[in-house]
Amino acid sequence: MRTPVIAGNWKMNKTPAEAVELARAVLAEIQPFTTVERVLCPPFVALAGLAPVLAGSGVGLGAQNLHWEKSGAFTGEISAPMLAGLCQYVIIGHSERRQFFGETDASVNKKVQAALAHGLTPIVCVGENLAENEAGQTGAVVTRQVRGAYAGLAAEAALKTIIAYEPVWAIGTGKAATPEQANAVMARFIRDLLQELYSAEVAGALRLQYGGSVTAANAAALMAQPDIDGALVGGASLKAADFAAIVKAAAG
Ligand code: PEP
Repeated sequence: MRTPVIAGNWKMNKTPAEAVELARAVLAEIQPFTTVERVLCPPFVALAGLAPVLAGSGVGLGAQNLHWEKSGAFTGEISAPMLAGLCQYVIIGHSERRQFFGETDASVNKKVQAALAHGLTPIVCVGENLAENEAGQTGAVVTRQVRGAYAGLAAEAALKTIIAYEPVWAIGTGKAATPEQANAVMARFIRDLLQELYSAEVAGALRLQYGGSVTAANAAALMAQPDIDGALVGGASLKAADFAAIVKAAAG
């Protein structure tokens, strides 16, 4: 039995003060749903403010990116040891980072290794864009991205990660994948590949989130699919009631 995990990706939204206000509102609504692993991922500058708000609440805190080096001449970057005392999760390889900031399968792999080395749970994002989807390349793209992210990772390490399947054409567009479409990619491409790379046990244990226009209205149907273990939520995570409804849907 895989514990559902719902994470809110606040992206580049909210000042530190606004983030604390939103976290308090979200917490008030989602705290009762203890059967769901719940994570809030605000911008870096809000992490220190949210840590005491979430401490002891059962709701986790995550960053949206990290650099793979521990320290050094990397102006503007944040490392895993810097995050380790502050939060427990980190989103890696989000499509917006791949699209706008040159993230590659190789850098995703280095970031996953760095996160794990410092006790952070990576939420590894994969997903095809619209052109790739229309060209029938979904399987090839997702397979390449998962292979890249997990290169050199032992089964024990892989088990500590979460994969978010986020078709790029569904992110922020209001056009979510159908539950059947999303489940098919997870079952046919991601879990089958994990079985090939590791074992049936790893493939069956790793949690797979769906991401891309998840809302209070479509969450229950997505969550009802056998291979979908939760969601990475962008837009709807910025509204306490909407995010709470998604968490509630995952609680069943
Ligand atoms: C995301 O940011 O990962 C995401 C899925 O965004 P949205 O829910 O807004 O589509």
